[in-house]
Amino acid sequence: MCTCVFSLLCPVIVIQLSPAPAPSQRAALQLPLANDGGGSRSSSSESSPQHHSYPSRPRHMLNLPTPQYGLVKSLENAEIDQKLQEIMKQTGYLKIDGQRYPAEVSDLISEGEIGSGTCGQVFKVRFKKTGHVIAVKQMRRTGNKDENKRILMDLDVVLKSHDCPYIIQCYGAIVTNTDVFIAMELMGTCAEKLKKRIQGPIPERILGKMTVAIVSALLYLKEKHGVIHRDVKPSNILLDNKGQIKLCDFGISGRLVDSKAKTRSAGCAAYMAPERIDPPDPSKPDYDIRADVWSLGISLVELATGQFPYKNCKTDFEVLTKVLQEDPPSLPLSMDFSLDFQSFVKDCLTKDHRKRPKYHKLLEHSFIRRYEVLVVDVAGWFQAVMERTESPRSSQCYSQHQLHSLFSR
Ligand code: ADP
Repeated sequence: MCTCVFSLLCPVIVIQLSPAPAPSQRAALQLPLANDGGGSRSSSSESSPQHHSYPSRPRHMLNLPTPQYGLVKSLENAEIDQKLQEIMKQTGYLKIDGQRYPAEVSDLISEGEIGSGTCGQVFKVRFKKTGHVIAVKQMRRTGNKDENKRILMDLDVVLKSHDCPYIIQCYGAIVTNTDVFIAMELMGTCAEKLKKRIQGPIPERILGKMTVAIVSALLYLKEKHGVIHRDVKPSNILLDNKGQIKLCDFGISGRLVDSKAKTRSAGCAAYMAPERIDPPDPSKPDYDIRADVWSLGISLVELATGQFPYKNCKTDFEVLTKVLQEDPPSLPLSMDFSLDFQSFVKDCLTKDHRKRPKYHKLLEHSFIRRYEVLVVDVAGWFQAVMERTESPRSSQCYSQHQLHSLFSR
């Protein structure tokens, strides 16, 4: 989605596993292949506010985490191996609508790419055996341990979150020598791309429903699985024409120990909480789910105003510096948002994480309470946006001004 902040801030330690085998099987795959490119995949141009190449940074300006956590690392590696064993038992079939179908890559017919992110590409795919149209995330097994970990974490979290309506549902996975294919329910698109289609603000009522969904998903992850997402941002919030809103992309989520995250892992700089950028003890990461609450706050400001709050920054480093040094962003009074929306965003963007509310407190907020019960036609709004911004003909029918009045508050 966007540049991994730790590849900006720290020297990346790449542990090479055995290289991916020669791509002899690829001709048999019906999906287009992810670009070769070695390490981390660059994100699609649609996904994030920051797409720059960066000069080297003066490390002294920020209190940077340093990689002194060998024990944690080896525990992590053991955990990765264990996860891989568990997941391998569950591959080679898809479970759709309660039915289990044996599946291999040749059963997946690509109908085109619908997104690309940090770990790979996402395709709209027809499952030949049943005709179901689903989403498939293709991730290359590059031999880079960090990437392998992301693949496994993503798969592990989606597979076990089958009982949460606010988390993308996984139908199963197919693992080949070169790739991992994760089959998921097909959503319409992500909030980031919706913002780009509209080229303006997303209405408060839609964001109200989105907030309920995302806070519920994050609370579920924490309470049920002891997991923190760590990459909350508009491109990881998916919507569809049924009005569903779901969280996706668990590649860098982490296990909580005593409710604290003990590993650094990556994340998108643009949405990163101050306590993750500048931890009190950089060698011992010790933040909690309130880091995700901050990211939610930044995402809400961006979607509600149609503008990324640090949009004038030229580099991620500039963003990080501003996050640390400036007052937090807020919803502009001039845009006439409800008082409880303003107050909710202000709470999420409390700079001192010790004073920032956790999920239970947020769920008591009048903004969430209101949108838990309010009936909002998210489906109708979504369909209208997709129709009126999709084809070049229809977009010619609407001027920019008309689009704004159609879709903004
Ligand atoms: P990565 O893990 O590689 O960062 P993501 O899971 O974030 O990839 O997906 C990248 C993009 O693909 C998303 O921003 C979204 O636009 C699209 N996408 C992902 N999953 C789905 C899905 N199930 N249905 C529709 N679009 C999806």
